[in-house]
Amino acid sequence: MARVKIDNVFKRYGALQVMHGVNVDIEDGEFVVLVGPSGCGKSTLLRMLAGLEQISDGTISIGERVVNDVPPKERDISMVFQSYALYPHKTVAENIGFPLKMAKRPKSEIQEKVNHAASILDLAHLLDRYPKQLSGGQRQRVAMGRAIVRNPQVFLFDEPLSNLDAKLRVSMRVEIKELHQRLGTTIVYVTHDQIEAMTMADKIVVMRDGRVEQIGAPLDLFDRPESVFVGGFIGSPS
Ligand code: ADP
Ligand code: MG
Repeated sequence: MARVKIDNVFKRYGALQVMHGVNVDIEDGEFVVLVGPSGCGKSTLLRMLAGLEQISDGTISIGERVVNDVPPKERDISMVFQSYALYPHKTVAENIGFPLKMAKRPKSEIQEKVNHAASILDLAHLLDRYPKQLSGGQRQRVAMGRAIVRNPQVFLFDEPLSNLDAKLRVSMRVEIKELHQRLGTTIVYVTHDQIEAMTMADKIVVMRDGRVEQIGAPLDLFDRPESVFVGGFIGSPS
């Protein structure tokens, strides 16, 4: 049974049809990477998974549950965006704990879960700092801390590393992979970086113009692209 099932999903923005019957099955614990040219619908698909965008037709299920009409907070999903907006006047601990505070969890529970997230992400020594006192990589880890603190079953990442310099991108790539192994959660990860896709994915979904062009393990796509488009996209350097 797939953890996440995207079944014949369509999306219109007004008269503009941007998604044309997308099907993707995501297994429990799988690291799935979405790639494709700018404007092909990667972010829209993530936002529909997160419940931040209504789907026009089709179904999305998480576990056994069809979530088409389930609000974001009740979906057991956390999303990490490209621009990781931290609250500048809150400490690292307060930033990480914010989703729990919003959910009105007791203070002791918040503290315990913040400490746990901070230890996983090597932030325990930085809990009293403010965002401006952190490096880019540390800020990105705080943003991830905020995502994992709710202990969701599914993580969504929308080009989380694209604002970081090349060296930091490489080390964050390793950190996210380790996080995935440690937590065992399902991850859907959008990138336009082919090396990121090839090295991180269990399964790559190549999208084009609101459709799925091909789905496969990285080496399958590399060795057996079913179209010139996929060959060009997976084979050429970024
Ligand atoms: P990607 O993330 O792959 O670059 P997007 O999902 O952002 O692509 O966009 C897919 C298509 O939907 C594009 O044509 C984009 O212009 C359009 N689009 C995205 N968001 C909106 C919106 N809120 N209103 C209208 N059109 C949108
Ligand atoms: Mg996008």
